[in-house]
Amino acid sequence: AAKRAGRGTCRFFEMDMSEEATRTLQIQQAMREALDKDYFSLHFQPKFYGHDGALAGAEALLRLNHPTLGLLSPAEFISIAERNGQIVPIGYWVVREACRQIRRWQAQGFQPTKVAINLSPRQLAQQDLLAKIVEILREEQVAGDQIMFEITETAAMHDVRRTADMVRAFQHSGFEVAIDDFGTGYSSLAYLQRFRVRQLKIDRFFVDGLDKQSDEGTAIVSAIIALAHSLGMDVVAEGVETQSQWDKLKALRCDEMQGFLLGRPLTPEAFGALLGARTGRAARRTSALAPIE
Ligand code: C2E
Ligand code: MG
Ligand code: MG
Ligand code: MG
Repeated sequence: AAKRAGRGTCRFFEMDMSEEATRTLQIQQAMREALDKDYFSLHFQPKFYGHDGALAGAEALLRLNHPTLGLLSPAEFISIAERNGQIVPIGYWVVREACRQIRRWQAQGFQPTKVAINLSPRQLAQQDLLAKIVEILREEQVAGDQIMFEITETAAMHDVRRTADMVRAFQHSGFEVAIDDFGTGYSSLAYLQRFRVRQLKIDRFFVDGLDKQSDEGTAIVSAIIALAHSLGMDVVAEGVETQSQWDKLKALRCDEMQGFLLGRPLTPEAFGALLGARTGRAARRTSALAPIE
């Protein structure tokens, strides 16, 4: 019986493997067609200031909408694109499309907001990454301070010296940099001061911890925020889903927050509506300050 169970288990395993392999091949093929056939799109998730709740910017998040595979999340396709290098051309498409969207919002009369773009390890390994990004912004006529870049802690720690050089070069060219998913990698905190990034994004895992009964979750987030502030960095909390998380993060002086409680990733049109509402409010505030005749 044991032998039969063993064989059965083994067959299951092989079936899973081949299903996964087939899926991977389908996604690779989908990505090969995607740039030509316009299957990619960007969604924009709003970020808000902790102190007053005003809109602070957006994170651009890639989507792959395939006619037969459906809407794929980056969780499924980015790692495949990263492994076979497809992420490199896709990544340049993301930068260009983000620029074009910024210009579209500008043309609609909205006040500018900063858009954060994710960069993965394979992209960071490109020697001409920064030069190509600068070139795209020049072609699309977007200023460097309209865009910032996020690199995960794990990617940053892969080669600390190179990351430090890259961060310096990006900042020298006028781009702010954030460390993404902070706390999930294995960084020695001492390395943080070598990067000198603008923002630290605390991973969702720690934000979840704020809702637990024990005080430990709060202690950890409090320590990360204190450390970041002492190094002159702003802190962004990812994955804020509950009011009590917002309240605690605000009390801990977290600079910016992002999460489903505040706003899901939105289509460009829906994010534009958010920008429009803000523009309207700002306009009213300005007119309220105008002298009364
Ligand atoms: P990330 O950069 O950490 O982006 C945040 C992810 O958390 C997004 O998932 C977002 O939808 C999700 N999220 C935001 N708020 C909440 C929340 O309150 N609860 C929960 N459960 N999730 C929340 P998404 O869009 O599926 O992206 C996953 C990852 O894929 C990103 O993680 C990023 O590492 C990568 N990615 C996305 N777009 C790009 C891209 O254009 N280029 C590269 N290289 N990577 C990208
Ligand atoms: Mg990110
Ligand atoms: Mg993140
Ligand atoms: Mg994350």
